[in-house]
Amino acid sequence: MSSRCDVIIGGGGMVGMTLAIALAKGGLDVVVADPVPKSAALDARFDGRVCALAYATVRMFEALGVWPHLEPHAQPIKDILVTDAKLGGTPSPFSLHFDAGEIGARSLGHIVENRHTRTGLFAVAETLPNLHFVAPAALTNLETAAGGITATLSNGDAVTAQLAVAADGRPSPMRELMGIPIVAWSYDQWGIVATVEHEKPHNGVAYEHFLPSGPFAILPMTPAASSEAVGQEHANRSSLVWTEDEKLAPEMMKLDDDAFNAEIARRFGDHLGATKSAGPRWSHPLKFHLARGFVKPRFALAGDSAHGIHPIAGQGFNLGLKDAAALTDVVLDAARVGLDIGSLTVLEKYERWRRFDSFTMSFAMDGLNRLFSNDIAPIRFARDLGMGIVDAFGPARRFFMRHAGGDIGKLPRLMKGEAA
Ligand SMILES: Cc1cc2nc3c(=O)[nH]c(=O)nc-3n(C[C@H](O)[C@H](O)[C@H](O)COP(=O)(O)OP(=O)(O)OC[C@H]3O[C@@H](n4cnc5c(N)ncnc54)[C@H](O)[C@@H]3O)c2cc1C
Repeated sequence: MSSRCDVIIGGGGMVGMTLAIALAKGGLDVVVADPVPKSAALDARFDGRVCALAYATVRMFEALGVWPHLEPHAQPIKDILVTDAKLGGTPSPFSLHFDAGEIGARSLGHIVENRHTRTGLFAVAETLPNLHFVAPAALTNLETAAGGITATLSNGDAVTAQLAVAADGRPSPMRELMGIPIVAWSYDQWGIVATVEHEKPHNGVAYEHFLPSGPFAILPMTPAASSEAVGQEHANRSSLVWTEDEKLAPEMMKLDDDAFNAEIARRFGDHLGATKSAGPRWSHPLKFHLARGFVKPRFALAGDSAHGIHPIAGQGFNLGLKDAAALTDVVLDAARVGLDIGSLTVLEKYERWRRFDSFTMSFAMDGLNRLFSNDIAPIRFARDLGMGIVDAFGPARRFFMRHAGGDIGKLPRLMKGEAA
């Protein structure tokens, strides 16, 4: 079957669906194709991760009507406590403490399980008659012609649009099809993810322990009702994001529950009383990549297809949503004055806006990971001193808090909380 629309998006992940909703609310006809059917994407075992949503992201979700679906599942982050430690050793006397009250905010962002974000996005998408989600259907070919770009889908359909957007994640088959090269390397680390139950309440505190093998984060979650995901029935729950050396990580993944919990306790201590992992574990090999260009005629990259960053500060999804919000501004502005939304002149505005921010954020996260994921004495001394200085210096602390909240640089309309 052949059809026409304004924008075809390859990838109905969290970035692709948000972009689709924003463009559809702006009046465009949008098709989203994904090889994973909705029922599989919403299964509790599909993706055990949470995302720390910056407040610019929350404003965007409010503007799109997605936030009411997420709010009941969103845990506000009241404080962030950062320490430098050795495995089995005492933590450094210097630590960093970020308190939301210091910048007059009620929270430093919200922790939401990805499955709840996906559920909220699908719920809003289904209310929009000009947004069509096609799955299972991978996008297998792209052909650019003078008046449009034609996407071939694995279900045999062909969709012609004015613009095709790749929101198809890190491997990005669409980026490959369009021949956009990337700069890439591996961190030789895995991110191990699990939900942990603990004796004491977390009180909205997020902990990040920098260990020589990488950051070990415990992020506060809302209590789970017993009808929720298997093994996640506890009132005091947090999400573990444990960065481990890629040689050791597969061994950790194979441990039985008792041994796995003992390894967690060795790294986290007893801040929250007895802590144990509940339910399944997930692992993600950690890699860096940045696309050398974000656009071609009638084609744009957004989210992880454009940049894959280290999860050390939980910024990957927030960065991807800024792409979606900026692309929405550029495309809707062009459409409203009758310009061709797929033309390079229009798309280059998006590239100029997003490439520098993506470059600086990607390399900042890369540098942070290199600075902290080692046990070299002079570097340890320098970073502990740096943490001590930032902790003692209010303006520096407030700068980092605003930065993490996403309120930096030129903000797209949706991230200011305005309509698309
Ligand atoms: C351990 C870990 C913890 C993280 N924590 C945070 C955090 O706290 N905060 C934060 O902001 N970010 C975090 N991130 C990053 C965040 O998870 C990603 O940036 C985000 O999920 C990327 O979303 P996306 O929609 O761009 O890509 P994806 O989620 O990868 O979605 C891509 C979609 O494209 C589809 N697809 C693939 N091939 C095709 C094709 N040929 N045609 C059509 N569709 C296709 C896939 O099925 C999928 O649905 C973390 C990452 C990791 C690894």
